[in-house]
Amino acid sequence: MATTFSEGGCVCGAIRYRVRGEPTNSMICHCRTCRRVAASPVVAWVTFPMAQFQLLQGHPTEFHSSEPVRRAFCSICGTPLTYEHRDSVGFVDITTCSLDDPDSFPPTHHSWLSHDLMWVRFGDGLPTFQEWRRDSAA
Ligand SMILES: [Zn+2]
Ligand SMILES: [Zn+2]
Repeated sequence: MATTFSEGGCVCGAIRYRVRGEPTNSMICHCRTCRRVAASPVVAWVTFPMAQFQLLQGHPTEFHSSEPVRRAFCSICGTPLTYEHRDSVGFVDITTCSLDDPDSFPPTHHSWLSHDLMWVRFGDGLPTFQEWRRDSAA
């Protein structure tokens, strides 16, 4: 199988990255922290093993949105770029819409509906979860 690469970056072009292959997860997050960080009703994320993520250009600025979570953005234009959680070492979440082609990896579900805004209504028919999707019934 041929290895595919996808590229992305921030809106001003200072930061460029490349990912290899397919994401392990693709979802839309409705949590209040993503909402505030992006100043957007929801934020779509794709998850890749860190080994498949390569920064090509620029230096994202990082901050902790909570103690275990590190987020990165472009300090020039403000585009949110990545999310790393201490409990998911070796994986990085990337904002789907910072990809040059956000249609490459469509989301499979919505997470954190418990934080949703009253006026957010999706009609895509995808599964929704009050918090994180559990991959197996607990
Ligand atoms: Zn930028
Ligand atoms: Zn979130």
